[in-house]
Amino acid sequence: MTLLPSDKALVPFVSVDHMMKLVHHIGIEPMLTALSEYIEEDFKRWSLFDKTPRVASHSAEGVIELMPTSDGEVYGFKYVNGHPKNTKDGLQTVTAFGLLADVGTGYPVLLSEMTLLTALRTAATSAMAAKYLAPKGATTMAMIGNGAQSEFQSLAMKAICGITTVKLYDIDPRATEKAARNLALHGLNVVPCNTAEAAIEGAQIITTCTADKQNATILTDNMVGSGVHINAIGGDCPGKTELHSDILRRSDIFVEYPEQTRIEGEIQQLAPEHPVTELWQVISGDVSGRSSDKQVTLFDSVGFAIEDFSALR
Ligand code: NAD
Repeated sequence: MTLLPSDKALVPFVSVDHMMKLVHHIGIEPMLTALSEYIEEDFKRWSLFDKTPRVASHSAEGVIELMPTSDGEVYGFKYVNGHPKNTKDGLQTVTAFGLLADVGTGYPVLLSEMTLLTALRTAATSAMAAKYLAPKGATTMAMIGNGAQSEFQSLAMKAICGITTVKLYDIDPRATEKAARNLALHGLNVVPCNTAEAAIEGAQIITTCTADKQNATILTDNMVGSGVHINAIGGDCPGKTELHSDILRRSDIFVEYPEQTRIEGEIQQLAPEHPVTELWQVISGDVSGRSSDKQVTLFDSVGFAIEDFSALR
């Protein structure tokens, strides 16, 4: 891919408003599907990329991070924050913007909002992972944490994995009501639940996407039956996890970039030598994903720079 900057044109800027229009124009489900195809393409050429754990600046209230990468021709980075307390003041937990540049000249060629794009790429990545790891014929997902990411997660699982039912649970019933209302408009069978246990019952895929800057226990070991696929999205910085460590010990764990996930993911609770599989190896066909009906598979998602690069390009 060659991106030539023009000395006459300003760097194109994609605002939140533009991104909303683009999503409406393309359609949310086709957009999630196309994004996951771009991410899959880039995971298949993993070795070409510069890779580094994201550079994080932590504070008592949250975190601000930079996520750079390059495939040798194009360079990209994202600026993103995570402030769980923001929602109490009517602000978002996550906001972001990103940039692409031409490696040959160093010129920026695209500047874009990435708040919405992050939610889209995170959902597209989850569904890409579930396509390879979830039990065949999965129809039902439990969605624990019904905030900003949750509707995208549910729609991506519908568009890419064929999920027909989503069971919702959040400690805040208003969050569940809002997600239920919106998701019902997209043809999903939506089941609001009063407990996490009720949401998980009968689900082949469990997605946790809660925001709390602590080691929370959203799922305990006895809540997770054999054969399910867990998509753990919310634990994505040091000291912030969602699953009891006993679940990790009986799961086969798949990660984006181990050097980053060991610091930020659920596996920060495990010894540094605990075996994990890199998702790109499954997608390239180098190693197998799900190998039995009984296996518990876990995608320990933290969000990696290559997914942002794919979304920007
Ligand atoms: P949000 O604040 O909009 O929603 C989080 C929801 O979790 C809220 O509705 C809250 O009530 C609920 N919640 C908190 N504790 C809970 C509990 N114990 N049980 C059930 N529900 C609970 O946040 P968001 O934008 O949806 O993001 C959720 C998390 O995902 C954040 O921690 C964020 O950092 C993370 N995230 C990860 C990635 C990734 O690539 N892995 C990308 C984006 C965001």
